[in-house]
Amino acid sequence: MLKYQSRQQRIYLLLTLLVAIAIIVGGWAIQEDSAPASTPPFSINMSIKQIAPALDVTGKSLARELDLPLATSKNKPLKAFGITQKQLDHATHHIASHRSTTFKYYIFTALALFGLVYLIRLGRPDNSTVKDRELWYPSWLYIAVLILSIAVCGFALGKSPNPMEGTVKVFKSMAGLYPSVLEKVLGFIFFAILSLIGTKLICGWACPFGALQELLYRLPMLRALKKRKVPFVVSNTIRSVLFVLTLLILFGIVGNKEGFVLYHFVNPFNLFNLEVETLFTGIAIGIFLLVSLGVYRPFCHFICPFGLLSWILERFSLFGVRINRNLCTDCGACDRACPSEAARGRVQKNKLPADCFSCGRCLNACPTDAIRYALP
Ligand code: SF4
Ligand code: SF4
Repeated sequence: MLKYQSRQQRIYLLLTLLVAIAIIVGGWAIQEDSAPASTPPFSINMSIKQIAPALDVTGKSLARELDLPLATSKNKPLKAFGITQKQLDHATHHIASHRSTTFKYYIFTALALFGLVYLIRLGRPDNSTVKDRELWYPSWLYIAVLILSIAVCGFALGKSPNPMEGTVKVFKSMAGLYPSVLEKVLGFIFFAILSLIGTKLICGWACPFGALQELLYRLPMLRALKKRKVPFVVSNTIRSVLFVLTLLILFGIVGNKEGFVLYHFVNPFNLFNLEVETLFTGIAIGIFLLVSLGVYRPFCHFICPFGLLSWILERFSLFGVRINRNLCTDCGACDRACPSEAARGRVQKNKLPADCFSCGRCLNACPTDAIRYALP
């Protein structure tokens, strides 16, 4: 790639790498909790009131984990409710597994920053013409970033934080399951800002489960299936209904299960802690991975609540795929290159086009150079 870059682009590359490294080193230096979560020994002779603050959750949240009514007395010892030590250990382990490593936020930032500069400045050699477009946006670089995201933001640093849980925790805190709403809102704002700078940059370039699905989809198999795109109206309707249903149950409006989170059973980020909470979760993760071989990012499109909210935010993102209508001939090349209905929606000026994951496929597909990753 380097040999095609102009001097200015090489300087951009060097500066981007230096800034990304500085962000990561700075994050490492000031991190608060790089060590994996550990929990002090808790006993069933203790009450919810004694245990919950040590886990940084509310009494309601611990009651929910223990399958007790949210209004359960928080002062009585847990054994008075028939809770066994094994149940308590399981619940505290699960809560502790959601603790965030702040260091991961810095890695997310560095990966998203690199993705942004690659898309707007580095992917296309300066002064190259449309005839050279097979040189543009080399996919090996994108694949290297995806592998880094899976290895570091996934398996090395564990499941939390991640954009999906960052979204769910906002609503859980509003339902009284975390002590501070503001802290969870700030976590969500971090992911939202990365989606506002470049369309779904966090999803396309840094989310480890997004990266895993992207890599599986890139494997050269099931090509016939890949040509048949899932209608966005179907996937987005399912994703939206699931989101609304989750909120209605979480806030106790339907189902009489206040504090219950539907997403808990299909949370694929458990994979990065090398543990699955239930058999159902294990089967769900297996299905997402298998389906990813022929369908583009099934979890993102059908389930992820952050996928849904960041799709809404796409309309306000600073950088994104922009079509020059003066050059576009409606030939359909970008639509064929795009793994979803996102490119078609943009060419057709659809007001609510499908999610764009800033994967860059369409950027070197256009024979008239009508597509750029740019400001509006
Ligand atoms: S939509 Fe996909 S990539 Fe984005 S947060 Fe959800 S799982 Fe990750
Ligand atoms: S190919 Fe589709 S998803 Fe990828 S950047 Fe282009 S419009 Fe977005």
